[in-house]
Amino acid sequence: LEKVPSDIEVARSQTPKPISQIAREIGLLSTELEPYGSVKAKVDLSVLQRLSHRRNGKYIVVAGITPTPLGEGKSTTTIGLAQALGAHLGKPAFACVRQPSQGPTFGIKGGAAGGGYSQVIPMEEFNLHLTGDIHAVQAANNLLAAAIDTRMFHESTQKDAALFDRLCPMKKGVRTFAPVMFRRLKKLGIDKTNPDDLTEEEKSRFARLDIDPDTITWHRVVDTNDRFLRQITVGQAPTEKGQERKTGYDITVASECMAVLALSRDLKDMRERLGRMVVASSRQGEPVTADDLGIGGALTVLMKDCIKPNLMQTLEGTPVFVHAGPFANIAHGNSSILADAVALKLAGLDEGETDDRAGYVITEAGFGADIGMEKFCNIKCRESGLVPDAVVIVATVRALKTHGGGPEHIENAKKFGLKVIVAVNKFATDTQAETDLVVREALAAGADAAVSSDHWARGGEGAVPLAKAVIEQLEGKPSEFKFLYDLDKSIEEKIEIVAREMYGASGIELSDFARQQIDTYTKQGYGNMTVCIAKTQYSFSHDPKLKGAPTGFVVPIRSVKLSAGAGFVFPLVGDMQTLPGLPTRPGYFEIDLDENGEVLGLF
Ligand code: ADP
Repeated sequence: LEKVPSDIEVARSQTPKPISQIAREIGLLSTELEPYGSVKAKVDLSVLQRLSHRRNGKYIVVAGITPTPLGEGKSTTTIGLAQALGAHLGKPAFACVRQPSQGPTFGIKGGAAGGGYSQVIPMEEFNLHLTGDIHAVQAANNLLAAAIDTRMFHESTQKDAALFDRLCPMKKGVRTFAPVMFRRLKKLGIDKTNPDDLTEEEKSRFARLDIDPDTITWHRVVDTNDRFLRQITVGQAPTEKGQERKTGYDITVASECMAVLALSRDLKDMRERLGRMVVASSRQGEPVTADDLGIGGALTVLMKDCIKPNLMQTLEGTPVFVHAGPFANIAHGNSSILADAVALKLAGLDEGETDDRAGYVITEAGFGADIGMEKFCNIKCRESGLVPDAVVIVATVRALKTHGGGPEHIENAKKFGLKVIVAVNKFATDTQAETDLVVREALAAGADAAVSSDHWARGGEGAVPLAKAVIEQLEGKPSEFKFLYDLDKSIEEKIEIVAREMYGASGIELSDFARQQIDTYTKQGYGNMTVCIAKTQYSFSHDPKLKGAPTGFVVPIRSVKLSAGAGFVFPLVGDMQTLPGLPTRPGYFEIDLDENGEVLGLF
């Protein structure tokens, strides 16, 4: 057996095709491509309009079993399968993956371009700044954070209501006339929609947002695992006149702006979602939104380019969309709806074309199927209206030895009515007897197909049996996709359904604080959101130490945050942190630049 070189050495051994060539090969017009240098480009959303007559290609989600801290090869399998379909079996095939966060890249896990001979290239570009989308999300998030504190500062220091109104002019239209004020006016029985018609006295009654500082849920964000920012105090300089308050930072990829990027269907939808994000309640108990702060438009301007999916390529020259980066444990864990939608049209069928000519879109959901796949189905597919044809569950012998729980992940996928294909991602240390056993057990647990796959060591060629199994399964009876819960159930019921059905819990336990938040959000009219539960990836339960498929445990819900723009409530389970820390030996120890300007040490 020949040794496979390091990920970065493999990546560098292949010269990428010019991105304009990839674009031509997949049928994009040159006017739809916005190159960033020569090997990556953004794709204009107008392509969706041009191809709207097409039927979509086939849609496959890749999920995992409970992982070890090193990752079990979901990205590697996503890319390997796309290479097998695209470069070996002659099918149009697109991989859709998330952009990695700087947190894990410089922390414990390394990059996320896949590995071995199944990778996105150039992996340095992929793993570092790419086209700046994460920076744009961070900029938008932090502008809103600044707006909240500034607004409270000026409302409390500017006592002259009329002057305040002149400084925060309220004109017709949602952008500058805060919706919260419309609502407040109505409640006061004042039936006026044009602020110019208001008397000075009426204005002074509602000009202020009157944010209750204790209810602010909006955090600042940073894309580094900088754990010392988890809790901070702002406003300590004398210029802030004593307006101190405790707040904190989250990692950028877990921010609501990132979720909005990943879940938006077009620019207009993104504008509306950014505008309706709720940051706090007023002292009167009303939700205060980004549009109330007059900032929804500015946030959209900061994020207008990042909404376009990024096109890159695999080691074998097949197309990859890299777009949005929510973590699967503390966020919704899936790349963008728009990247999948564009890929599904490019892989789709024109009028009169038969089904066997359809292409494949392989999209990845983060961590184990209990979190990434659950959120793919219940959140992403509900928002997009797209229906998956099958799920590929990636298993490794090492993770099964550490955690077990393989059959439960298959059972979970079946609850969504999906076809399940298990891919045993082969490691050099696995024996044939071990991989055969996993295949047999997977079939016995109800998988529709199970194959061992050697794409890490052999590239697309090593995933041909997996690709053939996928093609075969999609030719048979279609999946009968369904959601796990209806939106009209209460927030508590929805959390409980996920905990029971996906995690195997016997129930949930809400802290007083969580219950109070749920009451507030329900009263404010947000009871019909999906639930995006923040839970450890290392166990089906809330406790990373509980291995296998534990039963009889109760999931403790510490708090619940509203992400009204994303469309979900966000319950935090156990002691889950929304800003990770760095290990004793972080990845950045290895990373350097050589004398030729080449990046060393990324993996
Ligand atoms: P995930 O997407 O599940 O987090 P990745 O695909 O990112 O996992 O893989 C994590 C790491 O494991 C990468 O460094 C990759 O090179 C390595 N890896 C994946 N599959 C194999 C394999 N079959 N043999 C050896 N290393 C592998």
